[in-house]
Amino acid sequence: MLAEKLLLNVLIILLPIFIHSVLFDNKRVGKSPYLCGVLQSVAVFLSLAFSFEDGGLYWDLRYVPMVVAFLYGGPIAGTMVLVTYLATRTFMGGDLLLGYVSGFLAAVIPFMFLKKFWTFDAKKRIRTTVLVGLWPSLSMLVILVANMLINEASAENTNQIMLNIAIFGAIQVCAVWIVAILNESLIEKDLMKKEILRAEKLNTLGELAASIAHEIRNPLTVVKGFLQMMHKQEKGDNHYYLSLVLTELGRAESIINDYLNFAKPQFEKMEGAELAGIITEVTLLLEAFAAKEGVQVNVKLEWGIFVKTDRNQLKQALVNIIKNGIEATDEGGEVNISQVSTGNESYIVISDTGKGMDSAQIARLGTLFYTTKDKGTGLGTSVSIKIIETMGGSISFKSEKGVGTEVTIILPTFVSSSSNVAHDSVKRDMVMKQ
Ligand code: ADP
Ligand code: MG
Repeated sequence: MLAEKLLLNVLIILLPIFIHSVLFDNKRVGKSPYLCGVLQSVAVFLSLAFSFEDGGLYWDLRYVPMVVAFLYGGPIAGTMVLVTYLATRTFMGGDLLLGYVSGFLAAVIPFMFLKKFWTFDAKKRIRTTVLVGLWPSLSMLVILVANMLINEASAENTNQIMLNIAIFGAIQVCAVWIVAILNESLIEKDLMKKEILRAEKLNTLGELAASIAHEIRNPLTVVKGFLQMMHKQEKGDNHYYLSLVLTELGRAESIINDYLNFAKPQFEKMEGAELAGIITEVTLLLEAFAAKEGVQVNVKLEWGIFVKTDRNQLKQALVNIIKNGIEATDEGGEVNISQVSTGNESYIVISDTGKGMDSAQIARLGTLFYTTKDKGTGLGTSVSIKIIETMGGSISFKSEKGVGTEVTIILPTFVSSSSNVAHDSVKRDMVMKQ
């Protein structure tokens, strides 16, 4: 009988979650206090109605809806449940004072957590709910012990009641735990739905922007062509102005190209390319820039490892990351590039001794147009991430302010010889001579 009643009670406290997920799917848990209040009030009413009295204790989960309503629904929902509890309890009769006191006590602690609760992450919210769920059992224990002391119950009876309270507390905590987990999964589902909608919107916007960028590029090329002709003919001030105009036009063009590359990386010519060869080409390309900035670039490579890609795209991705490293590093600093392979993956680690980033900056990395540089475009990292991901690889950033940054790129690779080997070994010789 007891087990059946308790199972029924478990079903009762799960009821609000089922109803919420089926009928009110569009309302986020925690965002509609009245809905939460009504649903949990029904639960507390049913829980009291189907309570089972045994061994001086009511075996039901009446406090679970209260804790959940206060924590997940807020003060309004909590108060609604408390009022329902008090009303039902009054209607049921019995030891009313004990009922009222235990009801209020059960509401006190969740009430105190109200403000902080939503600042926690999901795991901490579950933990808090479980801990707060312990409280009603504890308060009941205190009340019962006090009651027994006053009424001078026999020792045997006391032990039995204590055991009952322990079992009851355990069941209650388990029930709260299950409810909290289910609530969190509802919240996560809702967040995911929103995220998907947002991503879809961004996708459409991105495509629109890409087509506009594409349309702007053509007239820009024509303008640039004519200005270059004028630039050659003009003398004096106009020559100088035209130089400036051309530089800025070049910048606009490179932003548009970068953006288009980001929106839709064009992997035109897929081929098996030796990874070490590509990295070498990139470092040679950036050698002059690094020298100008007074930064030493050290390279450690593993030859004979191949990736299948459009080499120009991969080069672009690496140039962006390594250039950022050089730009972040002060004169006399270092940028280290190493490439090691395990199985069919290759790790390219690009670390610098530059100014580093804090966690907020790292979180913004890869956001279009995020830059901290005067002449930056905020496209480099986004483009690189997109290219690496299109290649089926992954990229991660680790950084400490004032210490430096470490970028790890993982690429799927294969070990086999192809016609590229000869081509790349030329580059290898070049590096060795450096
Ligand atoms: P840009 O280089 O044009 O600013 P990016 O997308 O390449 O655009 O980089 C965005 C921002 O991320 C940079 O402005 C810089 O603040 C930060 N960043 C990127 N790489 C590093 C790095 N290695 N060290 C410190 N900051 C970095
Ligand atoms: Mg950059």
